[in-house]
Amino acid sequence: MKNTMNSMMPVWQLPVRERLLEGKPDWVHPLAKFHCFVGGRSLCGNYEQNTDFFETDIESGEIVQFPACGCKKCYEKWKKEYYMW
Ligand SMILES: [Zn+2]
Repeated sequence: MKNTMNSMMPVWQLPVRERLLEGKPDWVHPLAKFHCFVGGRSLCGNYEQNTDFFETDIESGEIVQFPACGCKKCYEKWKKEYYMW
C-alpha cells in the first residue's frame, strides 16, 4: 500500500526542483539526494512538496542499503524516529 501524506508516514523522494532539472537531457545530476518527507515536509526542513503528487519514492529498505542516496540529515532523523525492526 502506498503511503499518503495524510498517513504521516515517511516517504523518500527526490525534491521537485531536482526532478525538473533531471528531465533535461544535457543535465548531469550533481548531488540530488532522496529526502525523507513526512506530511509533505522533509525531515531536514529544506524541502516541502506534495508527496502524493509525485511517484519517485523509493523503498525505505533501499535507503538502508544505500544511505549515500539519501540526505544525511533526513536519514539520521528517520533512523531515530521511524526506523524500527
Ligand atoms: Zn533532507
